[in-house]
Amino acid sequence: MNLALFGGEKTKTTPFGTGKRFDGNELKYLQEALEQNTLFYWNGTKVKELIQKYTAFCGVKYGVATSSGTAAIHAALGAVGVTAGDEVITSPITDMGSVIGILYQNAIPVFADLDPFTYNMDPVDIERKITPKTKAIVVVHLAGNAADMDAIMEIARRHHLKVVEDCAQSYMCYYKGKMAGTIGDIGCFSLNDFKHISAGDGGICLTNDEELAHRCLSFTDKGYDRTAATTAGMRAVQYLCPNYRMTELQGAVALAQLEKLEWICNQRNAFGEALTEGIKDLPGIHPPKVIEGGKSSYWFYMFRIDEKTAKVSRDEFSRALAAEGIPNQAGYIPSCIYEYDIFVNRNAFPGSTLPFTINHDENEITYHKGLCPVAEEILETAIRLNISEFYTPQDLEDIIAAIRKVSHYYLNR
Ligand SMILES: *Cc1c(COP(=O)(O)O)cnc(C)c1O
Repeated sequence: MNLALFGGEKTKTTPFGTGKRFDGNELKYLQEALEQNTLFYWNGTKVKELIQKYTAFCGVKYGVATSSGTAAIHAALGAVGVTAGDEVITSPITDMGSVIGILYQNAIPVFADLDPFTYNMDPVDIERKITPKTKAIVVVHLAGNAADMDAIMEIARRHHLKVVEDCAQSYMCYYKGKMAGTIGDIGCFSLNDFKHISAGDGGICLTNDEELAHRCLSFTDKGYDRTAATTAGMRAVQYLCPNYRMTELQGAVALAQLEKLEWICNQRNAFGEALTEGIKDLPGIHPPKVIEGGKSSYWFYMFRIDEKTAKVSRDEFSRALAAEGIPNQAGYIPSCIYEYDIFVNRNAFPGSTLPFTINHDENEITYHKGLCPVAEEILETAIRLNISEFYTPQDLEDIIAAIRKVSHYYLNR
């Protein structure tokens, strides 16, 4: 069959399924929020109810609402005591939100390489990157898929490190029956507009530790302790904390979105699993790997091309697939994040090399291509497909048919 790229017939001839994201109780809860005559989380009920519902859903004791996922991760780092000059190990394939909080604490991101097929941090490389200055690990569960938490928690406990889980892309992501975000010291979620559920912006921290929950809450609220008996007690600020509070408006929308979370994640899980089933036999195509006992909620679907075996370059495969009517992206982020200017030029705070030289010799910490070779190879050989909970069985069939058509064409050319 001739490829659409070369003038053949296109595989996908019908539009992809779409739907309305905010057609549940959003408006009702927003109106209730406004009628409270306050939009402040401490005085209203929406943020409280969101936290109560989400902690119950995840089976954890405490939760703290924040203004974004980035804020949730920063608050978690602040709560576990990450401070100036500490090293924090994290993933090189992620959103800036994973490292912004590290840098604002004047701590130093150190990048561990990844498993080639789960795209999550490799525990062996995490251990290799630990130094006496390491304080914490920010584990990123990429694209809805769980990292190897048993191994990571074992290493963390042995080295007395704190574990913050970045679950911004990973609602209802399971690891051996446990939900991601409930395994480490604090789990962090995002409610930005591109995630499984959206409040425009927003975030949530989860923890089972009462003391950590208390510090997390205070960290999102200027260091204030609103549980204190007196105003002076409330304002007895101990250290620097930002204002990362969630408003009642965000809380209202998030609460309504939460009612759809299970459906959204189940749709995406089924879609991703079926897609893998449909393409896993193709030579030179590596579907994303879900580890034994894991369950992914597929925030996106990223597979890899082994160019030798598949007899086609990643870029050409990507173009051929697009021509078949399947939008896709060659790779994900443009490079590993340590190759971004901010790191290569050590320019977090312009005109200064801080935090990279706090507690560290002038050239002890540098960032450059080659730091995490597996991660770099992933970005050079991956193809990423958007997934939507509104995609239809027809969409699934067409995506599989298009990938199979392109693959067969190059294999048999
Ligand atoms: C989206 C995202 C964040 C940041 O969340 P925001 O709500 O946009 O601040 C952090 N980490 C990862 C992996 C993300 O995908």
